[in-house]
This record gives sequence, C-alpha cells and structure tokens, in this order.
Amino acid sequence: MIFRQLFEKISSTYTYLIGSQETGEAILVDPVLPTWERDLTAVSALGLRLVMTVETHIHADHVTSAQLLKREVGSKIAGPIMDHLPCTDFKIRDGIAFHVGDVALLPIHTPGHTDNHMAYLVDDRVLTGDALLIDGCGRTDFQNGDARALHHSITQKLFTLPSDTLVYPAHDYHGRYVSSVAQERKRNPRIGQEKKLEEFVQIMNKLDLAYPKFIDYAVPGNRACGQCPNDLPEYLQEYCGSMGESLQG
Ligand code: FE
Repeated sequence: MIFRQLFEKISSTYTYLIGSQETGEAILVDPVLPTWERDLTAVSALGLRLVMTVETHIHADHVTSAQLLKREVGSKIAGPIMDHLPCTDFKIRDGIAFHVGDVALLPIHTPGHTDNHMAYLVDDRVLTGDALLIDGCGRTDFQNGDARALHHSITQKLFTLPSDTLVYPAHDYHGRYVSSVAQERKRNPRIGQEKKLEEFVQIMNKLDLAYPKFIDYAVPGNRACGQCPNDLPEYLQEYCGSMGESLQG
C-alpha cells in the first residue's frame, strides 16, 4: 500500500492518499477544494492514477473537491449509501469492503458526528473521519449529530479494533498526525478511560462551540459532491479559492 497524509490548512483537514503499488490506482479520502491541484500532483508524483474520491461524511467545514477532480481526471465519486446523493458513482455500505487495486478498505458505520458517518479500516490503520480525533472527537450538535450514538460508535466499534491499530483522523488543530486505538482508549480526555455514557454526553453538551461559519454553504455544496455556492460572501471566498483557477472549472 502507498499511503500519504495531506493537510489542508483553512479547515485543518487531513486528506488521505491511498494507492496500490500493484495496479498504480489511487484514491483520495476527504479531498478539499482549495488543495485539489496539490493533491493531484501528489498522486502523479507517486506514479499513480486517481480512480476515486471517497468521503467519510458530508462535511460542514469545507467543500469536497470530488466533483472537480471527476471533471479533471475522471475519478469516480464515492460516499456513504445512506446519504442518498444522486451525484455519487459508488455507494459505500457498512461492512462491505471495497478495493483500490490490491488494497481493501472496510467501511465502519460510525454515527454520532453525523448520522451517516463512515470510518475506513485499511490494513493496520483506521481513518476515523470526525468520529474520533486525537485527544478529542467531532462535535455532535449539527447534522443529526448525537452524543449517545457517538459514544457507541467509538467505544463499541473503533475502540474494539486491535490496540495497535493506527488512528488517522480527518482533522487536527494542533499539529498532531497520528495516534493509535490504545492511546485514545487510554488518553482521550473526552472518552478515554472507559468514560461512561452519561459523562460523555454531559461533556459534549457543555462544549459550547460557536456556530460553524461555513456550514450553511458547505453542507449543500457537499450534498452536490462539491459545488461551491455562487453567493459565497467575500470573507469565505478562500474556502473555494482554487475553483476559479481550474482550466475547466
Ligand atoms: Fe465533519
């Protein structure tokens, strides 16, 4: 397997490049619009060909580059089946592995941050999306979020993976790159040390986070697999910045 972790700094998102040495095929998990060219360059620099983009969930903090990449290089668009997006070419189902060349990805339905969120188990690592972050977890107050469901997803699904499974989250806001199931089980301040359900729910309810500034544009944009809205206010323009620079976009 070829594996690269790429960072998008406006939304602090990690995009994952996963490739097959055997077939030269590659996918991008959670690619972000402003960095689409950087991501494509990374794929070709490795001698690979982008065949598909994959989402962990419908994002509220950035717009996916799925549709733009499809236009540029013909990559298929994949996302969780439960989202029922007409723009996806491939529907991802809980527990049904899909492949990029000889590399298998196993989707794990991990609701709580959003109701249709998927994590992906790949070899010795799990891409946890926004369900489990390093020393944290995704918020549960929007997009059918549910702290109780997230507690179940993390403790009964992600934390039951082998202890040395590497944890690669969809975001980090403090320059951390990777963790492990054992480390989060032990050290995650929100849900580690076998934190009980009610205590976790209380922690999540008291987070008192600001309203996400891009959500009203990002969610409809991502439901269209990466359409940046025309009426984007100037102060949010950087979220879609590179789109106008596309040769075909
Ligand atoms: Fe999210």
